[in-house]
Amino acid sequence: MAEVTFRFYGELNDFLPPWRRGRSFAYAYNGPQSVKHLMESIGLPHPEVDLILAGGAPVGFDHQPRKGERIAVYPAFSELALEGLPSLRPPLPEPIAFLADKHLGRLARYLRLLGFDTTYGADTPDDILAERAHDENRVLLTRDRGLLKRSLVLFGYCLRSTDSREQLFAVLRRYRLFDKVQPWARCMRCNGRLQPVEKAAVLHLLEPKTKLYYDTFRQCDACGRVYWEGSHVGELGRLVEEVREAGQKRAFSG
Ligand SMILES: [Zn+2]
Repeated sequence: MAEVTFRFYGELNDFLPPWRRGRSFAYAYNGPQSVKHLMESIGLPHPEVDLILAGGAPVGFDHQPRKGERIAVYPAFSELALEGLPSLRPPLPEPIAFLADKHLGRLARYLRLLGFDTTYGADTPDDILAERAHDENRVLLTRDRGLLKRSLVLFGYCLRSTDSREQLFAVLRRYRLFDKVQPWARCMRCNGRLQPVEKAAVLHLLEPKTKLYYDTFRQCDACGRVYWEGSHVGELGRLVEEVREAGQKRAFSG
C-alpha cells in the first residue's frame, strides 16, 4: 500500500464527507496511480480542480505521487488569476458556451435569457453528453459527479443547488460572467440568436395588445419566435435586474 496526504481547499470540500473537510487526511491506495485517479476515487470530479500542488510544486493530473507526499488541491479561483502556473487544461472557450444536462432545463433557459450560448441535452445519454461537450468546446453543467469524472470532459461544473436561480448565480460567479450579460440576445426556447425585426414583418404573429403597445421587436433566427420589451416583464425581468445589481455590487467591491 502507498499513502499520501491530501488537503482540499475552498468549495472542493463540498464533495467530501464532513470528516475530511477543511483538514489534511491520509489516503492509502494500491499504487502506482495518477493524482487524477486518486482525487476522483475520493469523490472529486477533475473539471472542478484548477491547481494541484505536490510537495509545494504545481503538477499535472497525470502526476504519480511519491510515498508520503503532501498534495494540496485547489478549485478555480474566481478572483485570482493563476498566472505563471502551469494550467491543468486549455483556456476556457471564448466566448463561453454551455451544455446543460437533462435536469437543468430551467438553468439553460436562464443562461439564454442573459445571452449565453447554451444547448440542452434533453434526452441525451451521459456518454453522448460528454462527447458533445468535448467536440463543441462547451462547459458541461450537471449535478452528476460521475458524468464530470469522464475523461473526455475538459470543462465542467457541478451544480450544488437544486434551485435554478441559485444555480444561475453560481455559474455567473464561477465563470466571472456578470459583466458579460447581454439580455435578449438569444431565444430562451431554442438558443437561436435574436435579430431586430420590423414591426410590419411580424404583425401577423402578434396578439392585439402587443400590436398596440409595442414597437420594437426581435425575432429568433432559428425558430421564428418574436420577442418584445414587454415579453419578459415579471419574474424574468426581475431576474435580469438582480443579475445586473449583483454585477454592479461586485464591480464596486472588487
Ligand atoms: Zn428560437
